[in-house]
Amino acid sequence: MGEFISNHGMTYHLVTLGCQMNKSDSERARTVIEEMGYTWTDQEEEAQLMGILACSVRQKSIDKVYSRIYKWNSWKKQRNLLTFLSGCVLPADRAKFLKLFDLVFTMEELPDLENMIGQYGVITPAVVVNRQQQIAQKPEPFDDEHQPDHHLIDLFEVTGKNEKTGGDVLKSLKSLRRNELKLGKFWEITPVYTSSFEAFVPIQNGCDKFCTFCAVPYTRGREVSRPSAEIFSEIKQLIDDGYKSITLLGQNVNSYGRDKKDSEMTFKELLEKIGQLCDSSGIEVWIYFTSPHPKDMTDDVIKVISQYKSLAKQIHLPIQSGDDTVLKKMNRNHTVDKYRKIILSVRKYLPQSTIFTDIIVGFTGETDEQFENTRKIMEEFRYNMAYIAIYSPRPGAASSKWMDDIPQDIKKKRLHILSEELKKYSSEHNRKMIGRNYKVLVTGKDRKEGYLSGYTEGRIIVRFPSDDTTLIGNFVNILISSAADFSVEGVCQPVGEPEITAR
Ligand code: SF4
Repeated sequence: MGEFISNHGMTYHLVTLGCQMNKSDSERARTVIEEMGYTWTDQEEEAQLMGILACSVRQKSIDKVYSRIYKWNSWKKQRNLLTFLSGCVLPADRAKFLKLFDLVFTMEELPDLENMIGQYGVITPAVVVNRQQQIAQKPEPFDDEHQPDHHLIDLFEVTGKNEKTGGDVLKSLKSLRRNELKLGKFWEITPVYTSSFEAFVPIQNGCDKFCTFCAVPYTRGREVSRPSAEIFSEIKQLIDDGYKSITLLGQNVNSYGRDKKDSEMTFKELLEKIGQLCDSSGIEVWIYFTSPHPKDMTDDVIKVISQYKSLAKQIHLPIQSGDDTVLKKMNRNHTVDKYRKIILSVRKYLPQSTIFTDIIVGFTGETDEQFENTRKIMEEFRYNMAYIAIYSPRPGAASSKWMDDIPQDIKKKRLHILSEELKKYSSEHNRKMIGRNYKVLVTGKDRKEGYLSGYTEGRIIVRFPSDDTTLIGNFVNILISSAADFSVEGVCQPVGEPEITAR
């Protein structure tokens, strides 16, 4: 790829895998790419710039990256195209992916993408236009002394030989610390929001917890809090633009400020200020956050949520297991009892709140008795929703070195048992909604023909008969008429009547 490639009118395609954090990052990636003059295309067959924001949580996601890049590289025989990989990528995988992608970089290096592409021998459409407009009767010749060169990140230089030793892991973490400085620049990018009424606002990146089943501390690095002034300014803009649902994002949102104790506020103070900002706007908006860690969850956070109307009464608090021995092996750094105290506080200060959780079944060595303890906590906490996952070793996580010794059929059986438990409590809650009016944010057309769907402040899914798509992105008042295991159905009420009686 040494020759000059004319990029005028070029398109890009971005594949985003994994969690909400990656989806949020992709909104900033789109801004940077579009500022370079590329336009989005749904048709990857047409794009000249193709990227993947990867997820390392499961092997399945890694496999998707391989299948995509093999396909893209096969197209390179017919036409010029440039490929890049970013997102959550393990240090060991970066080295392998550099042999397949033209560019591999961390998300915080995104603001430098244009330079990276330039070093690769490609001039972006925006540069072409600028040059045509501003400079040249005689265009600058392309500097072909810049040989096509992969953009090597610090991590690769440090750990490219062998990521498996503890020393290398430490070195890679130090390297990620250096990249923290670049995060500031990344967060300053104004995202291309994918929705006009729901938005994610990153408040923190990385994780210091080192749960043994998780690779995030190795892919995203240590916890870094985003400056609070920037968070307020993004939220204020979203409110001004009419957004109705805003989710504060981070791997450990309630650790916010701990990395900058002398200069930043705590998570409770951050929430308080956001509550003040949103309530005083006089505009209806629901502020969510995900995910908090039980270890750092304090009563003052729960009390603050109770004081501000805009702070949504929905708590997502991952427990992962209901057994102390398993929690210890997972390095979760809290006990079931500590978790129970938080739930009691939520019930006390936020009695109307729904509660969601994450659970892993079949973790290495999980006995029948330990699993039964998890089943019991479901009975005790009566979650509205639980995201239950079958354990599988995640490449790069500490537990991936341990024997994955629970047979698949037992894992599936445990998943089934917990799903049935969940259904009981979720449907019990949903049935109580019948006959009451709820404010619902309409999110789109439902799968059921002639229906729209949305969610309540507690994030219970609501569907109702309507083909009025102008309601999408707005609040409506729904009288609930029937309940299913994980959703409810109702009828849209005239504006203002009858009064909304429930959240
Ligand atoms: S708290 Fe645990 S599960 Fe969550 S990102 Fe950190 S290490 Fe992973």
